Amino acid sequence: MKLTILGARGSVPIDRQNNELFGGATSCIMVETEDAVIFLDAGTGILGAPEYKPGRKVSILLSHPHIDHLLGLPFFPYLKQRDLTIDIYATEKGGLDTKGQIDRFISWPLWPCTITDYPAEVVCHTIGSGCEISGVKVDLMESFHPGGSTIFRLEHDNASFVYATDYEHTDEKDAELVRFCRDTDLLLYDGQYTVDEYDEKRGFGHSTAQHALSVMEGSGARLMRIIHHHPTHSDEDLLRMEASVRTDNISFARQGETIWLQR
Ligand SMILES: [Zn+2]
Ligand SMILES: [Zn+2]
Repeated sequence: MKLTILGARGSVPIDRQNNELFGGATSCIMVETEDAVIFLDAGTGILGAPEYKPGRKVSILLSHPHIDHLLGLPFFPYLKQRDLTIDIYATEKGGLDTKGQIDRFISWPLWPCTITDYPAEVVCHTIGSGCEISGVKVDLMESFHPGGSTIFRLEHDNASFVYATDYEHTDEKDAELVRFCRDTDLLLYDGQYTVDEYDEKRGFGHSTAQHALSVMEGSGARLMRIIHHHPTHSDEDLLRMEASVRTDNISFARQGETIWLQR
């Protein structure tokens, strides 16, 4: 599997000086195999998707419908492709199925059309447990986050990674997450806040890089990237935060970074 970080910013996209290193596009990770392209979330990072090449199945997994994770979807370039089917997967959130969650945002009067009006055919799937997408095994765990968020584990050719965005740590959830990440090759973990910021933002549904270390250690995850960077954190802020946890295996995700996972 090849992963590309298309967006690692949390909450709102930013475009300022001093954010060039880590990037300002919101949540989107592109996963490629020989048969499939899977996007984890459809934040504004999805606008950076490479040109569509026919032959590979295209899917999107949505962690939750908070706006930063959907903001890029109306502009997803692949939606312009006729003869392309795009499968979108999510779990029920707020009593809404996957199509219902997308329709809340992409519909009149907030938007002039719905997701099914684009040239590509969009098929929405509401899942309640793991599934398989083009030979990639997908497992789920529900996060602790206002309104809920889904943590995904993807496995292909004996390599795996966990996408744990919009996650706030609790003792109970940590125990579950450590089990869920057991021996994974890569953990992508929501470290939006510094420890001091977290003290003031308890209950907002995000965690810290310091806390990520205990999840990594407990689970035996091989690599870790911190994601969902706070929109007010500059490159200097993020470099300082990164320096306090950085090792050969741990860093803060940079927009445009690619990671190959193979065994
Ligand atoms: Zn978010
Ligand atoms: Zn959220």
